[in-house]
Amino acid sequence: GLGLFNPTRRNSRGYDLGEPGVPEALVSAIGAARRSDLVAAPIVGGVAREGKSEAVRNPATGAVVGQVIEADAATVTDAVAAARKAQGDWSLAGGAFRAERLERAADLLEEHDALFLGLAIDEAGKTLVDAIAEVREAVDFLRYYAAQARADFTYPVALPGPTGERNELMLEGKGVFVCISPWNFPLAIFLGQVSAALAAGNAVLAKPAEQTPLIAHAAVELLLEAGIPGDILHYLPGRGETVGAALTSNNDIIGVAFTGSTEVARMINRSLAGRDGPIATLIAETGGANAMIVDSTALPEQVARDAVASAFQSAGQRCSALRLLCVQEDVADTMIEMVAGAMAELNVGDPSILATDVGPIIDDEAQANIAAYVAEARAAGRVIAEAGRTNLPADGHFVPPALIRLDHVTDLKREIFGPVLHVATWKGGELDQLIDAINASGYGLTLGVHTRIDGVAAHIAARAAVGNVYVNRNQIGAIVGSQPFGGRGLSGTGPKAGGPHYLHRFAEEKSISTDI
Ligand code: NAD
Repeated sequence: GLGLFNPTRRNSRGYDLGEPGVPEALVSAIGAARRSDLVAAPIVGGVAREGKSEAVRNPATGAVVGQVIEADAATVTDAVAAARKAQGDWSLAGGAFRAERLERAADLLEEHDALFLGLAIDEAGKTLVDAIAEVREAVDFLRYYAAQARADFTYPVALPGPTGERNELMLEGKGVFVCISPWNFPLAIFLGQVSAALAAGNAVLAKPAEQTPLIAHAAVELLLEAGIPGDILHYLPGRGETVGAALTSNNDIIGVAFTGSTEVARMINRSLAGRDGPIATLIAETGGANAMIVDSTALPEQVARDAVASAFQSAGQRCSALRLLCVQEDVADTMIEMVAGAMAELNVGDPSILATDVGPIIDDEAQANIAAYVAEARAAGRVIAEAGRTNLPADGHFVPPALIRLDHVTDLKREIFGPVLHVATWKGGELDQLIDAINASGYGLTLGVHTRIDGVAAHIAARAAVGNVYVNRNQIGAIVGSQPFGGRGLSGTGPKAGGPHYLHRFAEEKSISTDI
């Protein structure tokens, strides 16, 4: 994993919204880049396909953002055939050749960021702060995987062996990879999967989430403009049950990179196992029931700030988001009061307004499910705080942040993918029982820790069965190359995105021994 140490790669800087003039300049650039003629049509072999179009709507306002055309069965078949034919040459071209194109795409993305920021806001309901982070992460993935392709996929590595023999190990693309992404990081995760699969030398069939085809379409156009061959990258929008299922049951694919719910990961796993084709690789990044452990030495203001950011930023629609705040009993009243106080300050509403902290829920179905869950908790007398400042557009899908009291940490059984934070208490002296109870959920994505005692933090980090531990800070927003991201158990297979081992899972190894 030399790419990890590549000195020429730097993470994108993004924007500092605290700097005078920056927010206004961004808002006006986004306005100027907004287009009314967007159509996310399938792209096969670099050519757009026709079909019946459907409106894509802004989740905050209901306004039409653009149109999408679902890929039909013939389009999928054509894409698989073209990808299969072209993949060998792409792999043979080598890591440096592929890296150049991905780096060009990163530069283009920074240059045209206003279009992507606008789509993250209009199509995915992101606040400007979240949209900036989204674009920045996407740029970072492109450069990170490019650097690693250059380092690990350009030349074979010499291995030791008996005299008179040369031994080498090299990495190659596996074949045709399917990339299936969620709506909550419609650019960063979409491009992260696609760029990794491409960097490793695979051809790619990219299926974005049905809620966010437009930003993914713009990303594919940008990759093609950057020199990724049209037969190597195909864009196939559509529903999971149709396009997703057709792709994952195809005998000619060799792997799937999936990010989404645990339930769909299981379906894909079964689909791959039922084929007659080769044994396929599945890289799945799925949900979480993420906890934060707070002991009696923690600083209440810091806990309130970090718990509220972790639970409610992006309206809680992050896989890493905090779902269960576990507070040591003797400080629970103070902590809960401070969290409730911080929640009361949150502005909920249209994310295109700069003052908004919490935007919409992605669609009406998700909104109805989360709202029903909160209503049930309210009827049981368990809702102990809700966000105060709401200014909700009439046709949007919103759920104001809610804090729900549980009797035991084990009462949270599943992921609620929205702005809902649960709180439970634990007794001093029972820390290990608490960690074990959290582990017993079977999920293993993120864990927050707040304590002033280093030994306690180290003990929790060692015993927790999770992928990412965050101490005395919030537990969202992993940084490419610094905080490789991904979970275990019900939360995913690994390897971690933005980490040194990710690309290798997309690759085949070949050993060459030569008598000399
Ligand atoms: P989802 O599982 O409903 O959908 C994800 C993708 O799978 C979509 O593109 C969808 O069209 C596709 N799909 C659905 N059914 C399919 C099928 N039968 N065959 C093939 N593809 C199919 O998830 P979502 O609602 O888009 O995203 C939210 C979920 O994603 C949450 O559970 C969240 O925790 C998880 N997530 C995980 C990570 C991570 O890195 N671990 C990151 C972001 C989101």
